[in-house]
Amino acid sequence: MADTASSAPRPFSKVIIVGAGPSGLLLALLLSKRSIPVHIIEASHQLDQQPRAAHYGTPAIPEFVRAGIIDKIRDRGLILSTMCWRSPDDYSYIAGFNADVLKDVDGQDLRTHCYVLQDLDQLMLDEALAHGATIEWESKVTGTGQDGDKAWVEIEGKGRREADYVVGCDGANSTVRKSLFGAEFPGFTWDAQIIATNTYYDFEGKFGWHDANFIIHPEHFFMVARITQENLYRITYGEKPGLTREEYIARQPEIFKKILPGNPEPSDYKLVSISPYKMHQRCAPKFRVGRILLAADAAHLCNPWGGLGITGGFVDVGGLYECLVGIWDGKADDSILDLYSEKRIEKYQTIINPISQENFRRVSDKEPATRFERDDFMQLLRKGETDKDFLKELLLGFMDVRYDFTQHYKN
Ligand SMILES: Cc1cc2nc3c(=O)[nH]c(=O)nc-3n(C[C@H](O)[C@H](O)[C@H](O)COP(=O)(O)OP(=O)(O)OC[C@H]3O[C@@H](n4cnc5c(N)ncnc54)[C@H](O)[C@@H]3O)c2cc1C
Repeated sequence: MADTASSAPRPFSKVIIVGAGPSGLLLALLLSKRSIPVHIIEASHQLDQQPRAAHYGTPAIPEFVRAGIIDKIRDRGLILSTMCWRSPDDYSYIAGFNADVLKDVDGQDLRTHCYVLQDLDQLMLDEALAHGATIEWESKVTGTGQDGDKAWVEIEGKGRREADYVVGCDGANSTVRKSLFGAEFPGFTWDAQIIATNTYYDFEGKFGWHDANFIIHPEHFFMVARITQENLYRITYGEKPGLTREEYIARQPEIFKKILPGNPEPSDYKLVSISPYKMHQRCAPKFRVGRILLAADAAHLCNPWGGLGITGGFVDVGGLYECLVGIWDGKADDSILDLYSEKRIEKYQTIINPISQENFRRVSDKEPATRFERDDFMQLLRKGETDKDFLKELLLGFMDVRYDFTQHYKN
């Protein structure tokens, strides 16, 4: 059947995306695949190389499928099947699950996929550029503006760029968000410090550990999760707040010796990268003001325990894509963007924010020995160990983070 919508004059002609992080690059890829002109503006001269996201949960998988990159992610990265929480005394198993029940959900493998962020970013950038997206590096956006016909960004030393819509995908310190709401970013910052490392250490071969492991402790909580096929693991651990980056780096060997199984010396592992992070739970008042939109970390933040950060950000991007395509195809007017703001904020407040908070409280519990007795989620997982249908339903519950904006398209 002929696509009559696509031959009609288009209601807009260009989208500017601020930020070549994972959210901006996925949006650029999705839009450029639909032949919607998109221009990315990035402050840095290169993609971010810090150890950040690596694991993308079940709700993000349909976006990788839609972007046409799921096969490459599977070939180059890996899939996490087993995950558990462990006791700090002897690392014994407390509760966990095997996500293989999500291996084939109506033909889709919805298990958590893993591919280190800088490699995923490079993949999405290459694909977006191949589909016609353009990018300006070393271009720091300092402000935004809009009138009835267009929106624009001001770039330091380079002047103004205009489009019909500007999307702020510029991360936690978003200039686009600040241009709309100033310092207002409601929520809180945890009084805690975490250190993320990428480290080669054979947790599976030497200790039989799962793909992802959370060791519960009030101070020395940590996470160990495989991030490459070659035994590279993300080890993220708690530290005392208030030290300098240099002090954290100097303390790392002693901490690894103290907390990791086998009490390793530096010669027993290979540390590839290390970076301290603060953690926040915050959400912007709106994700849309006229022609300016926000997505992912620019719009909302959560702690990384449980990998809900960019997983939720990718779901935002998929929703925003559906809204913009609806407008582009004449199937929606731009009030659908108000719905984008309303529904994505609702999903953050009712799912991402409470679940991510609980994830951190679980791993940093003051009484690890009794956590299981007080933890409904862990007890449901215990039930799921023997009832696979129940486990599948439980894990698929995370798909509620998604929202289908195409249901609001005009017939
Ligand atoms: C240790 C750690 C582990 C994590 N693990 C996970 C995980 O496993 N799974 C998960 O889902 N999430 C995880 N997260 C969260 C995840 O990394 C973030 O949610 C994600 O990086 C946010 O992507 P983004 O595109 O919104 O912003 P960013 O990744 O911050 O990218 C923003 C981009 O915008 C650019 N920019 C900023 N300001 C400007 C400006 N003024 N002008 C132009 N460009 C600008 C920046 O240079 C950058 O390239 C983790 C976070 C941390 C800290």
